[in-house]
Amino acid sequence: MLREFDVHVITDTVRDLCIQASHFLSDDMKAALEKAKQTEKSDLGRKILCQLQDNLKIAGEEMIPICQDTGMAVLFLEIGQDIHLVGGNLTDAVNEGVRRGYTEGFLRKSVVKDPIFRENTNDNTPAVIHEEIVPGDKLKITLAPKGFGSENMSQIFMLKPAQGIEGVKDAVLKAVKDAGPNACPPMVVGVGIGGDFEKCAILSKKALTREVGKHSDIPYVAELESELLETINKSGIGPAGLGGTVTALAVNVNTYPTHIAGLPVAVNICCHVNRHVTAVL
Ligand code: SF4
Repeated sequence: MLREFDVHVITDTVRDLCIQASHFLSDDMKAALEKAKQTEKSDLGRKILCQLQDNLKIAGEEMIPICQDTGMAVLFLEIGQDIHLVGGNLTDAVNEGVRRGYTEGFLRKSVVKDPIFRENTNDNTPAVIHEEIVPGDKLKITLAPKGFGSENMSQIFMLKPAQGIEGVKDAVLKAVKDAGPNACPPMVVGVGIGGDFEKCAILSKKALTREVGKHSDIPYVAELESELLETINKSGIGPAGLGGTVTALAVNVNTYPTHIAGLPVAVNICCHVNRHVTAVL
């Protein structure tokens, strides 16, 4: 049986998620920062991690955004195939939620209408929306506003199959080292392996929305995540790029089948403000 679903509910939900994500870091990220503070070996690194925690506290208490870059709104929608959307257009409803969230929440509007002429849209729309049809009659909305200090540090590698898992590791480490302090570390590193050019990029972005500290269900991928995290944390980049033993809080890897002739790898880097919030309607 079809479930009728008014898109206005989506607008209201997206508005609330935009405001929530900009002011409160999710519990997994808070726990990861606390653990980082316990394990960081550098005094300066620990001091910076304490400052990041103070910043979070003030943001929540005084309703000030965690970071001045409140990001471009990226949304993953998992739409149950037994839902019948009514009351308007889905894309318009999502963008209206973003518009209201960024305007009513007094969040920085960071989106320009044209990539070359660069006139600000003044309401942070349009959002980047990824839609997937799934079984069931629920709608899952995940919002991950993305700051571009770290987004600009992301890279894609079209490897040859013979480069194998060692090639993947080299690619991830290159992207992290190239990013250095520019990605506002400690980072969360999202990696997409497989698919094609655009699929691996989306996999890597979605990997950033996975709970920090939760590993892939695929044993070799979980091992790869742990190994990469350990290696990245030996790079010495450290909190804020000022040296230390915590350069990344997590490496989340998602995989997908690919073509016999390719091994695409995308590395989407996020900063310590790894905002991701989810609502299930
Ligand atoms: S990369 Fe992250 S912490 Fe740095 S300015 Fe952008 S949103 Fe803020």
